[in-house]
Parts: sequence; C-alpha cells; structure tokens
Amino acid sequence: MSQLITIDEARKRVLFAVIRLGDEAVPLDAALGRVLAEDVTSAIAVPPFDSSGMDGYALVAGPGGELEVIGEARAGHPFAGSVAPGSAVRISTGALVPEGADAVVPVERTAAVKPDGIEAGVRLMHDMAAHGGHDRISVPETTRGANIRRAGEDIPINAVVLRAGARLGPAELGVAASVGRAQVSCSLRPRVAVLITGDELTPPGEPLGPGRIYGSNGFALAAQVERAGAVVSGRSTVPDDPDGTRAAIAQALDAADVVLVSGGVSVGPHDHVKPALQELGVEERFWGVRLRPGKPTWFGTRDGTLAFGLPGNPVSAMVTFQLFARPALAALQGAAPEAPRLTARLDAAIRRNPQREQAIRVRLLQSENGPTARPTTGAQGSHVLTSMLGADALALIAPGDGELAAGDRVEVELL
Ligand code: AMP
Ligand code: MG
Repeated sequence: MSQLITIDEARKRVLFAVIRLGDEAVPLDAALGRVLAEDVTSAIAVPPFDSSGMDGYALVAGPGGELEVIGEARAGHPFAGSVAPGSAVRISTGALVPEGADAVVPVERTAAVKPDGIEAGVRLMHDMAAHGGHDRISVPETTRGANIRRAGEDIPINAVVLRAGARLGPAELGVAASVGRAQVSCSLRPRVAVLITGDELTPPGEPLGPGRIYGSNGFALAAQVERAGAVVSGRSTVPDDPDGTRAAIAQALDAADVVLVSGGVSVGPHDHVKPALQELGVEERFWGVRLRPGKPTWFGTRDGTLAFGLPGNPVSAMVTFQLFARPALAALQGAAPEAPRLTARLDAAIRRNPQREQAIRVRLLQSENGPTARPTTGAQGSHVLTSMLGADALALIAPGDGELAAGDRVEVELL
C-alpha cells in the first residue's frame, strides 16, 4: 500500500474499467428494478381518443336547456351514432366522446325532466338503468371541451416516455404498459460472485466455538448486490489458506462479471487474497484508499471482469461496497453511477481524521434549516455494524485537523 488514493480517484479508476454489459428483452412483470437499455417511444397517443373525465352527459356545448338522451357511451363501448344540438348521450368516465359532442356535463349538475317535474340527476342514472328509454334532462350552460380529456393529453404520439439508463420502478412500468409495451429491453444484470474469507467465521444458526464469530458480510454484501440490481451468481466461504483461496477466486473469475472478496486482503500472514488475485492474472488498479473505514480496499481487472478485495471489517465492507462496487454495478447496467448527494448540517461535532476522509453513518432529519445529519451511534468503529442500522446516508468528512462543529455543513451520499 505505497500510496493511498482519494475516494474520487478510486471511483474514477473503477468506472474507467467498466465495460457495459449487453441487453435482453424483459417482460414488464419481471422488469421491476431493472435498467432500461432503450429509449421507450410511444407508438400511440395516450389517451388514444378524446374521452370523458366524468360520469355525465356528452353534448354540444352551449346555453342551458332541456335535452333528449339518445343513448349511452360506456368505457370500452362507444356510442355508434352522433350527438346533435338538442340531444345528449349518457357517458361514463373514460368512454369515447361521441361524434358531434364537444363537452361533458357531470351528472350532478343535471336533473331529470319527468312529467311530474324535475328530480336530482344522480337518481336519474338509476331510473334509466331500470327502464332504459329516451328520457329528457335539463343541463346548465356548458363550454366547449369541458370535462373532456383530449387524445394525447398525457403522452403525444411518438413521444419518448422513458430514457435508456432509467431504473424501472412502479411508475416507469405503468407508463411502459400505458403505451402498449409488453416487454422492454433491459441491461443484463451483472453476475456477482461473493467470496467470504475467514477461518473464524461460523454460519448463523450453528453453535459458536471458542474464538469464532458469526459471519455477517456474506449476508450484507449479497443484499447490497441485489439492491444494486445485480444477481448473486455464487456465494461461498473460503478458508484462510492460499490454495483454497486461489481455487475459489479462479472459479469465481470464470463465472461472474464481478468478484467481491471479503476479508483476507490485508498484509497479515494469513491474508491470501491479494497474491491469489495477482497469480490469477488480475491486474491491480488500486490498493488502499484514503478512507475510514475502508482503507485496505483492493481493486483489479482481468479482461472485462472486475475484482474487489473488500476489507473484512463489516462496516468497512458495506461502506466500500457502497462507494466503489455499487457504482460499478450501476455503470455495468448503463445506469448513472453517482449516488444522490446533498448538503446537510451536522447534528453533533465530529473529529476530523488528519489523513483520511471519513464516511460517517448518519440518519437524516428535517429541521428548520434544511436537512440535518445525525451520526447513528457514538461509536463509529469499522467493527460496529450496528452503526449501519437506520443509516440513511454516509457523511463524507474531508481529512484535516480539529473537529467539525455541530451546525457545520457536510456533503452526504444517500444509501
Ligand atoms: P480481515 O479483513 O480478514 O483481516 O478481517 C478484519 C476483521 O473483520 C476481523 O475482525 C474479522 O474477524 C472480521 N470479519 C471478516 N470477515 C467477516 C465476516 N464475513 N463477518 C463478520 N466479520 C468479519
Ligand atoms: Mg480474515
């Protein structure tokens, strides 16, 4: 670890190494969380036709008066004839506005005209449903276009509704469906092999022997991988021996787009990850970041495959995943690699680190002066995994002397 590099420099080197993956057609039902690989253009106008925005009567706009109801237009069942002055068509929300009509009057504003006088419009609908027939209604003055949703009001024909690189959430899927797309082209999900090293690790659910701990990185990292839209293609725990480490990494490099190794990357006598990666032809792109927690982070590539040696300390593993591996997974899918950032005021003083940039786990709160960042726990050590609980963001504190005071502004990166 001759020279530590900054977070920004490390990220640049990661993104420089990324070669975008290909794409595949994905049915909408399976596309939640995927990244679009095409611009989606609407071949139709939405709505496709002028339709009613209300339950009521379609008519020719004009002064109030009495009209003869000559038929009905329901959603999906247009009225076949046309509407002339003096007549009206009963219409439901979403039904095609019949030819000749240029306004809709809501049913609440109409009244039935019966031989024995006038009664409320709401009841008229029921009465008509009961005996059909050409009733008469009285309507108030109407203006042209009232309560009509124009064709293309939501989406004009040929409009680009979604851009390549967009992550598909519920609204994006709904919009794609609304323009008639049953499937969309999405970037392939990166296949990520997660390799966990450490003789001391015991799987949760088993009894703990002396000197052993439950392994948590496999679970946290696999979940981060899924959140990033990638697939965990393999997950294994590797003992701290050179041959086992090399064999596991060799297999992972062949099968995955990204290899994440947790632990064993430092310089101790039982840290075999770096030599194994190098023996397998993975070219080092950086080793060591001016970051706390997360200094002993290694990154390299073999052909298009990316390999990360993440520190074993659980907070360091999650933080370095967030800062370096997550952007790579986004970029592999053609999505924007930057996590959203904002400026917040510190809620408590934070001692600067003289050499390293710190990634402090914070909860974001809303205050009168805008967002406030509150450290999640007093202890922010790299082994204090509970400091990740409830964290909304990482506050990135530049290196320096002394401390930042409560109320100082800091940049935070949303998790
Ligand atoms: P290492 O990077 O292998 O030197 O590990 C640094 C520290 O992180 C040690 O205290 C390890 O016991 C701990 N550690 C490594 N891997 C894991 C894991 N998967 N889950 C929890 N702690 C771990
Ligand atoms: Mg270890």
